[in-house]
Amino acid sequence: TELANQIAAGEVVERPASVVKELVENSLDAGATKMEIDIHRGGIEQIQICDNGCGISKEDLPLALARHATDKIASLEDLQSILSMGFRGEALASISSVSRLQLTSRPAEQEDAWQAYTEGRDMNVTIKPASHPVGSTIEVLNLFYNTPARRKFLRTEKTEWQYIDEVVRRLALSRFDVSISLSHNGKLLRQYVRVQSGSQRERRLLRLCGAPFLKQALALSFDHSGLSLKGWIAEANGPKMNEIQYFFINRRIIRDRVVNHAVRQAYEAISTGPKNPSYVLYLDIDPRQIDVNVHPTKQEVRFHQTRLVHDFIYHAITNALSHSAC
Ligand code: ADP
Ligand code: MG
Repeated sequence: TELANQIAAGEVVERPASVVKELVENSLDAGATKMEIDIHRGGIEQIQICDNGCGISKEDLPLALARHATDKIASLEDLQSILSMGFRGEALASISSVSRLQLTSRPAEQEDAWQAYTEGRDMNVTIKPASHPVGSTIEVLNLFYNTPARRKFLRTEKTEWQYIDEVVRRLALSRFDVSISLSHNGKLLRQYVRVQSGSQRERRLLRLCGAPFLKQALALSFDHSGLSLKGWIAEANGPKMNEIQYFFINRRIIRDRVVNHAVRQAYEAISTGPKNPSYVLYLDIDPRQIDVNVHPTKQEVRFHQTRLVHDFIYHAITNALSHSAC
């Protein structure tokens, strides 16, 4: 099954940033309110995430690294699984098949921490006692060391770092209630502090999207027929702001044509200039109204009622923009 894992790894683990994404999502699933991410050499040499989540018990450590052992979709009716970020149960197995992976963890109810180690070819998990506070640390070393073809596809360390920075930015935008720090080559470069007040919210948005966005952004909050759209929208001026187009559905970042179309059309209906909108928007929708498991990286979605969602987004935005205009 090492081969199966490596094939699966191709779907989920494209580059260091995809590893970071999966690991952060696991920490979020584990209920972490704080995580420290340390990257070395664009994540090719080392990716380490330390969280204060629920931890993994000694017995579960080998299972966490086994493929599909944690697959939580028992049936399509299993809504909880759709709400939780991870439901495929293969990220850690896939990552460990193409790296050297070390997982140290301690759940609150366990006295001591334990550490599991695996490396690529060898699917055996070695477990030994360790020292660790409640929570988990996952360390991924030498990514793709045993799949040179895939390693060749990686870009420069700087570019891979930029991908990681962007992945973490998106995750930080999706969860203002979680503290995230991110360092590269031993230097602390990003610090997103957990938001507990309005001014902290602004500061975090400033750090994530920059001053020009914050200055221009119009806050938006619209609820109707069980749908909710919140966030910020601004006129993009300059290439930096053009890139700020983030849309989250139930806290998960999504790229979707229906959504893009609705946002753009709404913006064009109200705005006079030809410029692009920049936005950070959060749609909350009954999970039964969407299918999220369209793609392994879970960035695509299918709406059951496409027209309804499109029109809701359109109205939420035109409403906010036209009120601000007068
Ligand atoms: P999935 O997230 O789809 O279940 P993963 O391979 O990403 O599959 O993770 C396997 C399992 O390992 C998770 O279901 C979870 O039980 C456990 N796990 C992984 N990372 C953490 C973490 N940071 N804290 C607690 N448990 C974790
Ligand atoms: Mg996962």
